[in-house]
Amino acid sequence: MKLRYLPLLALLAAALPACHPADRPAARPTADARFEAFKTRFIADLWREDPGLASAQGYHKYDSLLVIPDSVQRRRAAVFGEKSLGALAAFPLDSLAPGNRIDHRLLANYLRSARWQDDTLRAWQWNPAAYNLGAGIGELLNGHHFGLDRRLRNISDQLNHATEYYSAAKGNLRRPTQEHTRLAIKQNEGGLAVLGPALADSVRRSGLSAREKKELADRIATARLAIESYVAFLKTDVLGAHRFRSFRIGRALFDRKFAFDIQSRFSAAEVYQQAQKHKAELLRDMGRRAARLFPKYLPGQPVPADTLRLIRAVVGQLTLKHAPRDGFVDAVKRQIPALVAFVNDHKLLTQDPGKPLVVRETPLYMRGSGAGASVSAPGPYDKGANTYYNVEPLPAAWTAAQAESYLREYNDYTLQILNIHEAIPGHYTQLVYANRSPSLVKSIFGNGAMVEGWAVYTERMMLEQGYGQNTDEMWLLWDKWNLRVTLNTILDRAVQVDNIAEKDAVALLEREGFQEKAEAEGKWLRATLSQVQLSSYFAGYTEIYALRDELKQRRGKAFDLKAFHEQFLSYGSAPVKYIRELMLRE
Ligand code: ZN
Ligand code: ZN
Repeated sequence: MKLRYLPLLALLAAALPACHPADRPAARPTADARFEAFKTRFIADLWREDPGLASAQGYHKYDSLLVIPDSVQRRRAAVFGEKSLGALAAFPLDSLAPGNRIDHRLLANYLRSARWQDDTLRAWQWNPAAYNLGAGIGELLNGHHFGLDRRLRNISDQLNHATEYYSAAKGNLRRPTQEHTRLAIKQNEGGLAVLGPALADSVRRSGLSAREKKELADRIATARLAIESYVAFLKTDVLGAHRFRSFRIGRALFDRKFAFDIQSRFSAAEVYQQAQKHKAELLRDMGRRAARLFPKYLPGQPVPADTLRLIRAVVGQLTLKHAPRDGFVDAVKRQIPALVAFVNDHKLLTQDPGKPLVVRETPLYMRGSGAGASVSAPGPYDKGANTYYNVEPLPAAWTAAQAESYLREYNDYTLQILNIHEAIPGHYTQLVYANRSPSLVKSIFGNGAMVEGWAVYTERMMLEQGYGQNTDEMWLLWDKWNLRVTLNTILDRAVQVDNIAEKDAVALLEREGFQEKAEAEGKWLRATLSQVQLSSYFAGYTEIYALRDELKQRRGKAFDLKAFHEQFLSYGSAPVKYIRELMLRE
């Protein structure tokens, strides 16, 4: 039984003496050492090629560089990609240790995906929102890596190329989509705000010389003109001409993008089928639980004959239990120690007491994105920094009705599931483990489906272990929550491949997802602007759950949940299919 899963490396080592000179018995460490050197070189080169990505990852050497997105740049990127893929091919996968083998595949996938995006998907032609100088400048301005003067000098250097940047943007566009054009107008108008009074204020109180200040002020004025001219171009030449392409990318591009972005062992069509099946299972479970709960919450009332209406009625009662408007952040804070204790008591995985999670109110400059809670984790170049759980208090401007709708969405049950997902043992815990895996490649090119899949997996796993006392109430709202990621996957393909109409999509989310109209309409918009990302949660979750079942079956009584979790997380943010290969080999 063990032999079948003998590690490939062991087989390889046995075979080596036959095909290599006898004086080189240590061929594997040599290949790995050479590969480590290659990775370091490659990342250093990549940062120069893509300063924006470098900056976002916390590497600030090239903060003063603005890449002009023209054909010269695309040719340069293509050459860099070809050269890097060639260098990668000099390392046969079999010659590398498991961790490096995953890195090799992540790099190859990244490079091929970048080529495919430039040559085939060509969003640079149809997505005007790809060009937004203000966003990058805002990041530089709010960054904490350098003092104010250095940040302003970097901003000045970038703004010096604003006119070229936007003229390249205009030159790239060929019949963009209406949806991305509207987004680009909104975001670039937001970008203008970045180049407004706050920046001028920073310049005034900086230590820049009078000449530098004057130069920067001129560059800001020129950049504002460039942005205004781009916005006017989008409004008049693009929207006014009414010549758009569809935002739907179609089957061939969607399937390929899915393969690059998700890196699943299942195809896009297979994951869609799994989601349809799972949706039916969730609705069946909801019907059973709602029928049991109905007399408790709506005693004496006639039970609706229609199952979807029955579920809606009971969910409507359960969501009445929620935090008070001014107590939302406190409610989250109170739950974290309970989650930590539950994970310890039930031996679900080892937590690192040296890295406590800091719960804070979301800083002002991060608010308003619509994410009520998020984790801010230190990047790969900043590992010692704090990890924050940002929780946004309800905006004071909200009406009572808006606040009530939000608080009901994050009711007492769902809020616990959200905390599991975002914090413990979801995203936060996974990040702590990932940071222990020393691979920079996995930190930078980590797999989003694995990261989101893990967070979704832990929601169900915690409830299965008895968190929430196994009540119908808790499970019913978990069903609803899980239905959301399941429907995200269905919607993604229905919109991008199957041409579903907006009214049918919104009706689906309202009727079978029990979503409010505003939520459903927001989801429609997101499904028109992005492709595949909405599928990542369910795809990762399903693959992790299937892997756990596979290992349970294989190991029988010897299966240990804690060991499974710790081993699974030990590989860093790698695609589940590669983790699976390594775990099945044991
Ligand atoms: Zn209420
Ligand atoms: Zn998440």
